[in-house]
Amino acid sequence: MRTNHAPVFRFTGCKIKLLTILFIFLAHISFSQSIVEKIVQEENNHSQLQSMAHELLDGIGPRLVGTPQMKKANDWAVEKYASWGITARNEQWGEWKGWERGITHIDMLSPWVKSLEGTQLAWSPSTRGKTIKSGIMIIPDLADSLAFANWLPNVKGKFVMISMNQPTGRPDDNWQQYATAASFEKLKKERNEQMNAWRKRVSKTGYSSRTLPIILEKAGALGILTNNWSNGFGVDKIFSAYTSKIPTVDIALEDYGTLYRLVESGDNPIISIQSTSKDLGIVPSFNTIAEIKGTEKADEYVMLSAHFDSWDGGQGATDNGTGTLTMMEAMRILKLVYPNPKRTILVGHWGSEEQGLNGSKAFVEDHPEIVSKLQALFNQDNGTGRIANISGQGFQHAGEFINRWLAAVPSSIKDSIKTNFPGTPGGGGSDFASFVAVGAPGFSLSSLSWSYSNYTWHTNRDTYDKIIFDDLRSNAILTAIMVYMACEDPATLPRDKANLSSGKPIPWPKQIKSMRKGPVAPKN
Ligand SMILES: [Zn+2]
Repeated sequence: MRTNHAPVFRFTGCKIKLLTILFIFLAHISFSQSIVEKIVQEENNHSQLQSMAHELLDGIGPRLVGTPQMKKANDWAVEKYASWGITARNEQWGEWKGWERGITHIDMLSPWVKSLEGTQLAWSPSTRGKTIKSGIMIIPDLADSLAFANWLPNVKGKFVMISMNQPTGRPDDNWQQYATAASFEKLKKERNEQMNAWRKRVSKTGYSSRTLPIILEKAGALGILTNNWSNGFGVDKIFSAYTSKIPTVDIALEDYGTLYRLVESGDNPIISIQSTSKDLGIVPSFNTIAEIKGTEKADEYVMLSAHFDSWDGGQGATDNGTGTLTMMEAMRILKLVYPNPKRTILVGHWGSEEQGLNGSKAFVEDHPEIVSKLQALFNQDNGTGRIANISGQGFQHAGEFINRWLAAVPSSIKDSIKTNFPGTPGGGGSDFASFVAVGAPGFSLSSLSWSYSNYTWHTNRDTYDKIIFDDLRSNAILTAIMVYMACEDPATLPRDKANLSSGKPIPWPKQIKSMRKGPVAPKN
């Protein structure tokens, strides 16, 4: 067994001398090169990422909070861990509106026949299996809320379109590549004007895009048609419905545009919708927690972290199937090559991140004994790419520790990682922020985008085929080595918060309480 020494930690604070000396002395990590090599070998030769991705994403599907698939995934993870000899449990953190997606058919019947590409929004009421058929209205551009109130009875028995019709279905990079500069500029200018005009049109109704569906439902509309285009070919974002009796469906840009133009030109298109989703009442929601017990410092913790839930327009592959699988794979490898860690290794597969980091916030509230003894938490949640950035999240000494842990990572992986120390504390975005908010060292392993924000994040195209498995393998290796090093480090990461360059304390985000029961009705 070869032993390497990572760079010595230099204590920069002005504490008493003895402590400083002790700190520097303790700050060598005698890490085993052979364990690092075993981690790399195991992942490169026996990766289970692809088979797990298939089981989770194709076999179980997306994992919207409150759905039977979320619970199925929780149980699948516990079983997976058990098969590797790792103890795992589903810990209830709250409850949510239960719902199960069913079949949705959306068809244009007139002026010609076409099955439309559309997706029922999450938690949308169904048509209880019946096929409902009618004409369409577009919310009109009226003078004010009084004029809107007078118009409102017209929606009775009709489908209502509440989204703007996009002027182009081509993403900007496509225009950039082929359009003349003048026509691209013209498009952008006209689109901006159109977006402003649409915003005004909605606000003049006296309602917001959230409350408008509710008032249309009350006025007797048959269903709500939306288009939440994600600025790429064929992609829409699929979020939740606000109606409680009538279906809300997103219609893909191409079909939405066709219907919109037909309505505007007076061609009176007729469509039908049939949906069979089920309302399941209120159901419990869980975090899946797995553990490899520590030996020397069993009451100190190093955590792996990734939210388990997803939106359900696609399979939740890159948000956050990939983070989930990275953490599971790192745990599998650690159990195999480092079964007796110095500190206890925990992984948190969080529920309801998508509605406001609820599972991880609840864990922080429920487990002060773990959070107060947390050496470090590594969260991954921004797509399938290789880890490219790590920030110190505003902790004064994060850089010294993270650099020391990174020293054991093969250069083929670490050389492309940019670090930012001490960095600034993340106030949201993903579950590490739930820990940072209480001053516990939560870090984000932030990845390359691979067109995440347009093409996969919360979209109907967030599917298995978008995963870059070579990058995931690299991330699993990185995570396993960082966890190994954080477990072995004789020193505990101090929680001192960095100062701004002005010398003033860095502004720190406040802890926000988890929502233990959801969803709450929209107010604006
Ligand atoms: Zn996410």
